[in-house]
Amino acid sequence: MSVAPFSEKYWSPIETVSAVQARAVQDERLREQITHLAAHSTFYREKFARHDVDVTKIRTVDDLAALPFTEKQELRDSLAAVPPLGAHVAVDHADVVQIQASSGTTGNPSYVALTADDIVTWCELGARALYANGFRPGDRLLHAFGMSKGFVGGLPIVQILRYMGIVDIPIGAEAGAERLLRVQADQRPNALIGTPYFLAHLAEQAPRIVGRPARELGVRTISVGGEPGGGLPAVRDRLESLWGATSREMLGGTDIACTYWGECEAGEGMHFLSPDLMIAELIDPETGEQVAPVEGAQGELVYTALRRRASPLLRFRTRDHVVVTGTDCSCGRTGFKVRCIGRTDDMLIVRGINLFPSAIKQLVTESTPAATGEMRIRAEFEGHSTQQPLLLVVEHAAGLGPEQQNDLRATIEQRIRSALNVKTVVQLVPDGTLKRPDHVKVSLVERVSP
Ligand SMILES: [Zn+2]
Repeated sequence: MSVAPFSEKYWSPIETVSAVQARAVQDERLREQITHLAAHSTFYREKFARHDVDVTKIRTVDDLAALPFTEKQELRDSLAAVPPLGAHVAVDHADVVQIQASSGTTGNPSYVALTADDIVTWCELGARALYANGFRPGDRLLHAFGMSKGFVGGLPIVQILRYMGIVDIPIGAEAGAERLLRVQADQRPNALIGTPYFLAHLAEQAPRIVGRPARELGVRTISVGGEPGGGLPAVRDRLESLWGATSREMLGGTDIACTYWGECEAGEGMHFLSPDLMIAELIDPETGEQVAPVEGAQGELVYTALRRRASPLLRFRTRDHVVVTGTDCSCGRTGFKVRCIGRTDDMLIVRGINLFPSAIKQLVTESTPAATGEMRIRAEFEGHSTQQPLLLVVEHAAGLGPEQQNDLRATIEQRIRSALNVKTVVQLVPDGTLKRPDHVKVSLVERVSP
């Protein structure tokens, strides 16, 4: 099935409704969703009973704040206790037509079930994000996300592209730079999707592998996601100049759908695009209190699925930490905009200052070409907090002399001190020392015993 966009500028008319209209749709659908959970999900029925929740009193989005969160660990426990789909599944198993394995950075995969209608919902959510990024029906796309292991960047992206009327060339990051670039040179698809650092790495290999710079390979639009960084100016500029294309960012996560935040042509953060299909709250990760999504606000994203049948989640804590970059936009979309600055779990505290590894990565990337852009934080401490300067291992470019190396070291230390107010000690290593990003996320923090 493929459907057409609503207009030249937007995939769906819902992307431009007023806050009042959006709220009215959410209130109505939240009541429907809570009724569905109470009737069909053992997990939520028990959770409501445990927390003395009277579901008939949940009338509006404002009432959500009184409801308990759903934690990832609860879903794992539910899956383990009631295999194969958990006590939270809310449909007959006969209605399940697809099962996604949620990628976890730790532990076993968790499983997400979908009905045929849920797949359409996922596709609709994803279409709005990718359309905002610049993909159009009729485009042809090189698929450079990982396609194996059930990762949502694989099959669900294929389904979204088909729904949008885009031709997918499903090669996958696992195929490696050589294969991907060969296909790009042969087929010249005009759209490209993958993780930001991998796509930059891919472009850098183009002259060696296909004898031409990446910007001569015919890509017009790039959509990046799967890791923070794609919206950072240094990373975006590098991708756009390497590929001679626009690069915009999107964000999602398996537990709710595939992708559902999408940056528009303005490039100032990813819009919330789907008040009819989900609710996104911002909370303070320490206190759990709601944070108003006004410009400059920071917090963790918490999602409630609407119109979801098989594995519906209520107030699901994502650990994705975002900053709100705006609440109105020249593109006309009305959903607030965010940039993801990291996982709440990844946050380090250096002499009392909260710090996300992705912020350090950005500053190191700004020191290219003297640095390659690859770096690791070497954490010689337990937990997340240290009183010592942070040790950074940074790759320098090939052929950099001793004096230039000294300059590079000083520049990076100085840049991080002035931007983040954190003292670092930079240790340089030669080009090629650190593992490159591919379809498997590379942790920016390396743990070493103190
Ligand atoms: Zn916009």
